[in-house]
Amino acid sequence: MNARFCVKCGATNKPLVGSLCIDCFLEMYGLVKQKQGLEISICPRCYAIRLHGKWVRPNTYDEFVELVRSSISSSLAPSRPEVKIDSIRIPSVDLYSNRVPVVLRARIGDHSIEKQLELRVHWKKALCPMCFKRAAGSYQAVVQVRYVHETPDIERFKEKLTEVFPDDIVEIEELKHGFDVKVSSDHVARRIALLIQRTWKAVRIIESYGDQRRRRDGRRTARLYISVRILNVSPGDYVVIDRRAYEVESVTRDKIVLRDSSGRRRVLNIKELPRRASRP
Ligand SMILES: [Zn+2]
Ligand SMILES: [Zn+2]
Repeated sequence: MNARFCVKCGATNKPLVGSLCIDCFLEMYGLVKQKQGLEISICPRCYAIRLHGKWVRPNTYDEFVELVRSSISSSLAPSRPEVKIDSIRIPSVDLYSNRVPVVLRARIGDHSIEKQLELRVHWKKALCPMCFKRAAGSYQAVVQVRYVHETPDIERFKEKLTEVFPDDIVEIEELKHGFDVKVSSDHVARRIALLIQRTWKAVRIIESYGDQRRRRDGRRTARLYISVRILNVSPGDYVVIDRRAYEVESVTRDKIVLRDSSGRRRVLNIKELPRRASRP
């Protein structure tokens, strides 16, 4: 027997979808769900957008909006099998704004629905292959960031970097226990190293020069390499300080509590760690 009223709000005068009225259905399920986080990869130099693994370069603003629409569409799915999406329209896009207005038209059974949504979008800046080729070899310095644990704050920091230095970062190369940031000047490389030190405190920084080349005028040039090791140890890790092994018991923003094999505790200022520890 079909229900004649909404099981949630009791309404008898509204169209029903299964056992819910259409308003309660929308309230409960919405029209769409995101299949994955809405991340749009964009080239900050030519505004190409990565779509299904391919970089597409727009020639006009309308083409750009259409590319954004396509990436948004492919990340959305109907919230329930009863919902059919007819169209997804985007009136306008503010570049790098993390909110994009979307007008959805959908059907539930015989009912047409139009809904305005604001979707959260994360812009991931990366050079497209064409711009990368152009920039390749043009980087001046490399910040080699390594860490003990890949924690979520590292990922957030990487995103922040591309936001703070969109024009100076040539590439962020992902590696197994870290990443290399290739930048356009020594100055930017040092600013990045400083930013890391301010963020984590327990950081070991070593500068060196490499890739020596002779320029056309006969002078030698070399790239600046800054090795930045984030000692983001966590409870259970082993550290060696003054040639003694300790287990990390706890870590706060400023202090690290260590315990040796006989159970004796030792408290260390977190800033001391890079200088005193020979491991990690
Ligand atoms: Zn209802
Ligand atoms: Zn590009």
